[in-house]
Amino acid sequence: MLEKIDVGRQSIAAYKTSAGPEVVEQLRTLASALRGARILHINATPYGGGVAEILRSEIPLLRDLGLEAEWQVITGDETFFRITKTIHNGLQGAERALTPTEQEVYLAHSMRNARLLEGDYDLVFVHDPQPLALLHFHGHGRAKWVWRCHIDTSEPNPEVWGFVRPYVADYDAAVFTMGSFVPPEFPVQRVEIIPPAIDPESPKNLELDLRLARRVLQWIGVETERPLIIQVSRFDPWKDPLGVIAAYRLIKQEVPDVQLALVGAMALDDPEGWEIYHQVRDAARVDPDIHIYTNLTGVSNIEVNAFQRLARVVIQKSVREGFGLVVSEALWKGTPAVAGRAGGIPLQVQDGVSGFLIDSIEECADRTVWLLRHPEEARAFGARGREHVRKHFLLPRLIADELRLAADLLGIIPRQVVPAAEVGLPGELRDPVCGRRLETETAMPLDHEGETYCFCSDACREEFRKSPHRFARPAHRSN
Ligand code: UDP
Repeated sequence: MLEKIDVGRQSIAAYKTSAGPEVVEQLRTLASALRGARILHINATPYGGGVAEILRSEIPLLRDLGLEAEWQVITGDETFFRITKTIHNGLQGAERALTPTEQEVYLAHSMRNARLLEGDYDLVFVHDPQPLALLHFHGHGRAKWVWRCHIDTSEPNPEVWGFVRPYVADYDAAVFTMGSFVPPEFPVQRVEIIPPAIDPESPKNLELDLRLARRVLQWIGVETERPLIIQVSRFDPWKDPLGVIAAYRLIKQEVPDVQLALVGAMALDDPEGWEIYHQVRDAARVDPDIHIYTNLTGVSNIEVNAFQRLARVVIQKSVREGFGLVVSEALWKGTPAVAGRAGGIPLQVQDGVSGFLIDSIEECADRTVWLLRHPEEARAFGARGREHVRKHFLLPRLIADELRLAADLLGIIPRQVVPAAEVGLPGELRDPVCGRRLETETAMPLDHEGETYCFCSDACREEFRKSPHRFARPAHRSN
C-alpha cells in the first residue's frame, strides 16, 4: 500500500466569512452532483511545498462536501528524489537531462509505486512529475486520471520533456496553473487552467492576534520593534535566496536597522534543499541581522503566519515559479509583496497596487526600501492585496474549479457546447494566457484567425498577440 496521509476535519461552512456565503452555496450545489464519488490525490510528500499545503486543506473539505476523498504519497529513496528533482528542474528549463540509468531508476520506482497503489476510485489526480508514470504501470482501471502540473513547463528541456511526454499522454486530462505553462505539442486533449489557492482557515492563514504574533517571533529571536523583511520558501535555486541576501545588503545601506528572515521548509522530495541551505548559511554568516529558520528548527504554520503578518514587506524573489502560494499568503495578511515577475506571481501581485513585480536584485532592493519608507502606502497596498486574494485565490474557488472538471470527466454534468473562443471549463469565459475567469462586460477581446479571444488585461492580450500559437490551440477549448 502507498502511504495514506491522515488529515483533520473541516467544515465548508467555516468559509462563509472569508470566501462569502454565495461561494460556499455554489460549491455545495456543485458537490451534491458528485456525492459519494471516490477521489484520490497522489503526490510525493506529505509536507513542505505548496502541493502538500493544498492537499492537507482540500481533502477534509471534499469529505465534508460528501465525496470520498483520499490522499496518498508515493515512496522513494534519496536517489529517486534526486532524479525527480532533475525532472522538475528540466521541465522548468534547466539544461541537465537524465542519464539512461536515471531514467531506468525512475521507471523502476514508478512501477513499484504503481504496484503499491490499491483501492477503487472514480477519479485520480496525480500531482507533478514525481508520480507521473504511475498511470502507465497501473493502468486506468475504472478511473479517469488527471495530471495536475504545478510548475512552469512552458519551455522545458527538450530531452527531459521527450522522456516524460509519453507518460503524460496516458492521461484523460491535464490541469495547469496558467495557459502559458502548457508545453509545446502537448499530447492530452483535455486541458484545464486552474490556479491554486490558499486556505484562509488553516493555522498558517487564520487571524492571529498581533500581540501573540510578536511573542511567537520574539521567542525565536526576532526583534519585533525593528523593521523585518522576509522570504518564506523552500531552499531552491529558482527561489533565489542568495539574491534575497544580496538585495537585503542594498536595503541595509538605506535602512540600517532592517532585519531579514529566510524561512525555508525542507521537503521530503527535495534533496537539493540542503545544498542550497548551506550556501545560504555561508552567505549570511557574518551578519547577525539575517535569521535563517527551517521547519526542522521548529518553524511551523503559526510561526510562518506570524512572520507573514509582522513583516513590513514580504519578498519572493523567484526567477522561475509555479504559482508561489506564499505570495497570496502574505497578501491575505495585508502585507505587501515585492516579487519576481515569474510564473503565477503576476496573477497575484498587481504591480504598483498591492506590491511590486521585479526583475533584478537592484529593483527588489529599491522597491522594498520605498515600501519601508512609506508605511501608510504599504498598508494600503496590503489591504488591496487581501481583497484581490479574497476574490481569486481562496480554497473554495479552487475546489469548485476541480469539481466542475470532475463532474465533466465523469459525465455527471453533461458538457455544454460553447463557442470555440471560450476557453476554460464549460460555459465559462477564461483568459487563455493567465486562466483567469472573465466577465463578458469587462473582458478585452482580440480576433485571431476567425475566433474571438478574451483577456483580463492588456498584458495578457499582448502576450497572446506575440505568440498566439502557444495559447490558441484546440486543447484549450471546451468544445
Ligand atoms: N512553507 C512553510 N514553511 C517554510 C517554507 C514554506 O510552511 O519554511 C510553505 C509556504 O507557506 C507555502 C508552501 O510551503 O504554503 C510553499 O508553496 P509555494 O507555492 O510558494 O512554493 P513551492 O514550494 O510549492 O514551490
